[in-house]
Amino acid sequence: MPSTLTRTIGTFERPWLNRHYQRFAGRFQLDAASGLYFDCDTPAAHRKLISATFLQAPKTLRDVAIYLGLTVSTTDMPGTLSGSLSAVYGSWDSADHSRISPHLEMTTISLTPEFVFPHLVHECSHLFWAIQSKAAKARFTREMLDIVVHSFVEVTDYAQDYFDEWQELLGQEIPFIQQRRNRALDQWVLESFCESVAKLCCPPYKQKEGRQTDNLLEARQALIAEHFDLVLENQFALV
Ligand SMILES: [Zn+2]
Repeated sequence: MPSTLTRTIGTFERPWLNRHYQRFAGRFQLDAASGLYFDCDTPAAHRKLISATFLQAPKTLRDVAIYLGLTVSTTDMPGTLSGSLSAVYGSWDSADHSRISPHLEMTTISLTPEFVFPHLVHECSHLFWAIQSKAAKARFTREMLDIVVHSFVEVTDYAQDYFDEWQELLGQEIPFIQQRRNRALDQWVLESFCESVAKLCCPPYKQKEGRQTDNLLEARQALIAEHFDLVLENQFALV
């Protein structure tokens, strides 16, 4: 766990930093309350909000973020550099955890009361996923597939898009289809995992979408506890 007050990060520490991502290099300051490292240019109000919100997340997710040395920045642009409302970047395939070097970027939309907590939880779920064993992820994927039914309804529109993309590829016969299918399956399982964790921790998240997925979420909650030893509950019902 890094414990210095300031860290300077460049391409050596952060292998995924190409020219496009240069803004995620530089100096980061430790926020003592949360253990997160903020880009030096992050406005104080954003730091305070993200730090306090992070402390409401499940301890297991927080521990992973701190263990991996998560750095954070915010942007006034309408989207993150990768084109989302919030995003986390890293060398996800690195077996050496110290090389993952994750960075979280949040937009001002992501910092609104409706989204700040579930978005933060979603992004931290990516970090959690990254350090799980391949075997555990494969077992979880098999069980995810077992609970797919006809006209499957995912927990959010976002997760549904990934599911539909994978399904679409199942019906196609084009060159390199198997690799694309495998990649789409992996992406659906990952994004669906992160959305499920966010909804389990924060049930009002995307409730407006009107999806009837209580049973699916309950099944996922049990699978996540069984395969990853991650016990999730409504974080706001705890106080
Ligand atoms: Zn995601």
